[in-house]
Amino acid sequence: MSMFEDIPVDVGVIYEGERIRRKDMQVELGGPDKEHKFELARVRKPEEIEDGKVVVIGPDIKDMAEGSSHPLGILIEVAGEKLEPELEGVVERRIHEYSNFIEGFMHLNQRYDIWLRLGKKSFAKGLNSFEYIGKVLQRLFKSELPIIEKMQVTFITDPAKIKEQWKEALAIYEARDARARGLKDEEVDKFYGCTLCQSFAPTHVCVITPQRYSNCGSISWFDGRASARIDPKGPVFEIDKGELVDAEKGEYSGVNAVVKQKSLGEVTKVWLYTAFGYPHTSCGCFEGAAFYIPEADGFGIVDRGYKEATVNGLPFSTLADSTAGGRQVDGFHGISIEYMRSPKFLKTDGGWNRVVWMPASVKERVAAFMPKELVDKVATENEARTIDDLKAFLKERNHPIVGTWKEKPVVAEEAVPTEAETPSETFVGTVPTLPITTGGYKIILKDAKIYAKKVIIRSMKDEKIEEKGKQ
Ligand code: SF4
Repeated sequence: MSMFEDIPVDVGVIYEGERIRRKDMQVELGGPDKEHKFELARVRKPEEIEDGKVVVIGPDIKDMAEGSSHPLGILIEVAGEKLEPELEGVVERRIHEYSNFIEGFMHLNQRYDIWLRLGKKSFAKGLNSFEYIGKVLQRLFKSELPIIEKMQVTFITDPAKIKEQWKEALAIYEARDARARGLKDEEVDKFYGCTLCQSFAPTHVCVITPQRYSNCGSISWFDGRASARIDPKGPVFEIDKGELVDAEKGEYSGVNAVVKQKSLGEVTKVWLYTAFGYPHTSCGCFEGAAFYIPEADGFGIVDRGYKEATVNGLPFSTLADSTAGGRQVDGFHGISIEYMRSPKFLKTDGGWNRVVWMPASVKERVAAFMPKELVDKVATENEARTIDDLKAFLKERNHPIVGTWKEKPVVAEEAVPTEAETPSETFVGTVPTLPITTGGYKIILKDAKIYAKKVIIRSMKDEKIEEKGKQ
């Protein structure tokens, strides 16, 4: 039985984290194949909107063919005596959470990157109109955030209409982000944390500081502050910075304590400005990822919208999988585009001096925030599609990383033995977290020390050749 009698499917927190695979989907809305998509919240005057109204511009769900994909714009307009435009970002980010409460309805990402799917089973139960989804959103928003007194929801699926409003939405996001620039981490006593993504990554905690924007790129420090004020028991909360343990790495005692508590002991330490050691964890909805390229001793950056293989041959999805899930993975780091505009961006690792490759579309968005002398020295897909191209380009442009190559011979170029055997009972190393899946159970070993009778090191290049030979 449904939580709401007039809604054909159930609604509840148990449906958060539900994934809908392509073969099970009735329709897909937004997603990587659609350029124009967005979700936006606006604070309006009470007389400008009609409470409870749901507007659909373009085809409704029932008019869409089974298995088809469509562009989508979601506009949430709210009014209330205590609502300030500062809260728009907070309201907007909750669309993700509340949509995912709907049985058989999946919402991923944020802002201009949204990706939704409705499952066939829920469609068969009667969830065949945006009208129902709008009604659920209105009820959840108003019960969770009582300062919302009126709410109107518009779903746009008409491609021409979306394109027009998408441009406006991008300008609004930019204005919102610009407001948060200028304030320094050292100038505030409090940071903010967010655990909204724990339904997908149970150990992930975002630490939102003035100079480290949330990974999803939709919650600034100001948004965090506003959210914690209006809903102190909600997913966004205040973090007392505590003592500055390490200024270079960005380690604070208060951050460590809160992250440890909120990740149930899984993450004990966070260094805010580095991708190594104890990097900030990554959930799954980060806007982009920084990935270490050992051959150049630098970082590549890739965003979710980049569809081709990056310079190391791997696409965004593979690189994202290497860091997602609330883990701290050396050299792989979920980030927002706005964090790239911060003076603290990978500061411990060398900042922009360490960045060697990124898609041209990302470079265009952040070029004004890069040191001027580096803009032409960082390669894009137009200059480098392979590691060899990249190294040649960096040398030709005299990227600062090239100077460090002379001092440190690049490890990846050393000959790797195809197979080696160590003496018996050799100590191999300590692993902070080692998951083993066996017999239907997942066993997690913490700080495991590994001793092995035999260690085989095989070059992956050779394996690939062997595999090819088998086909
Ligand atoms: S990425 Fe971080 S800030 Fe954004 S919703 Fe998820 S946990 Fe919150």
